[in-house]
Amino acid sequence: MAPLLTPVAPLSPAELARARHYLYGGLVWGTLAQLWTLALLAFAYYGGMAARLAAWARGHHGAARPARETAAVTAGVFAFVLLLGLPWDLYLGFFRERAFGFEHLTLAAWLAQWAESALVYVAAGLAVAMSVFAWMPRRPRRLPWWIKAWAVVAAGVILAVALEPVLIAPLFNRFTPLPPGAARTEIERLARRAGIPHARIEEVNASLQSSHTNAYVDGILGSQRIVVYDTLLDSQTLPELSFVVGHEIGHYVLGHLWKGVGFTLALLFGMLAVLAGLFQHCARGRPPHDPATLPLMLLILLGLLFVLAPATNGFSRWEEHQADAFGLRLSGHACAAVRSFQREERTDLIYPDPPAWIVWWFFNHPSQQQRIDFARRACGATPPAPQTPAAPPRSAPAAAPVDGRTAAPPRSARGR
Ligand SMILES: [Zn+2]
Repeated sequence: MAPLLTPVAPLSPAELARARHYLYGGLVWGTLAQLWTLALLAFAYYGGMAARLAAWARGHHGAARPARETAAVTAGVFAFVLLLGLPWDLYLGFFRERAFGFEHLTLAAWLAQWAESALVYVAAGLAVAMSVFAWMPRRPRRLPWWIKAWAVVAAGVILAVALEPVLIAPLFNRFTPLPPGAARTEIERLARRAGIPHARIEEVNASLQSSHTNAYVDGILGSQRIVVYDTLLDSQTLPELSFVVGHEIGHYVLGHLWKGVGFTLALLFGMLAVLAGLFQHCARGRPPHDPATLPLMLLILLGLLFVLAPATNGFSRWEEHQADAFGLRLSGHACAAVRSFQREERTDLIYPDPPAWIVWWFFNHPSQQQRIDFARRACGATPPAPQTPAAPPRSAPAAAPVDGRTAAPPRSARGR
C-alpha cells in the first residue's frame, strides 16, 4: 500500500545520473533520427527516386497519370523513409527502453506493432497526398495551390483527431470503462465537480507495451475521452491519481484539444505559405502539382517543424501549466500532487531539472521540478487535510520500479 502523506524519497545521486542519461541520450538520438528523416527526404527528391517512381507509374505511354503517380510516389517514399528509419525506431523505442527496464513487448511483438503503425502512416499519407495532388492543378488562378493543400491537410488533421480514439488507438491497446471502485468513484466526483458528469473515462492496458505511467485526453466531435493507464492506477495513491485525472479533466474542460487543433491549423497555414515561397527556389524546375515533388514538400515542412520546436513546445507547456493549475484546484490535493510528480520521477525515470534551454527547445511539459515547485506552493497555501482515504494501489507497491516505453499517447492527445 502506498503511504498516504509521507513524502516520496527523492532520487538518489545514482538514480539522478541514470535519469539524466535517459533524458539526454533520448534527446540526442531523437534529434539525430529527425535529421536522418530529413536527409532521406532530400535524397528521395534530389537523388531522383521520386521522379523515377512517377515515371514508372506513367508507364510506357508517357502521358501524365496523376492519381497513379501520386500513389506510387507516396507509397514508395513513405516505405523508403519508414524502413530506413526502422533502425532508429528499434534503438530508441525498443532496445533503449528495454535497457532502462521499461519495455514489456517481445521484439517480435514490437515489430508487429511497428509494422501496423507504419501501415497507418502510409494509408494516411496516401489519403492526404492523393486529395492534395488531385485538387491542386484545377483552376490554379482562383486559389493558390498552397491554400488548397492547407485546406486538405486541415480537414485531415480534424478527421484524424476525431477518428484516432475510434479507429487507430484500438489497433494497439484495449480500452475499457474504469471498473467500479474507489478510483472510479473519485474520478466521477471530479467529473461532476467540473461539470462534465457524462465524460467518458477509460482505462487502457498500457502495461502491454511498457511500465511507463500516463494519462491523456484525446478526441473531438463526440469521440473525446479521458484515458488513464493501468500502470498509473497501479502505482499512484488515490489522492495522487485524483490530481492527475483533475489535470486531464482540465485539458478537457479548457478545450485544449480544439485549441491544439486551432494552433496546428494556424501553424500549418504559415508553414505552407513559407513552403510556397521556398518551393520554386528548391524544386529545380518542377511545378508544385507534380507528385514527384512530394518528398521536397515534406522535407521543407518537416524542416520548418524542426526549427519551430520552441514555438510548438511553448504552446504545449502553456496548456500543460493551465491543466496543472486546474487539477490542483479541482482535486484539492495539492500536496498529493507534489508526491504524484515525485513518484513519477521514480516510475518513469524523469530527470527533474534540466537546463532552461533544454526545456525551452525540447519539452512539451514544464520540467518536473517546475511542476513540483508550483504544486508545492499550492500545498503550502492549503496544508493537506486527510480528506480522501488512502487508496491502495490496485497491485503494485507505490514506489514501483520505473520502467518503460509507453504506448505513447497519440500525437493528437494532450498527455499528462
Ligand atoms: Zn497534460
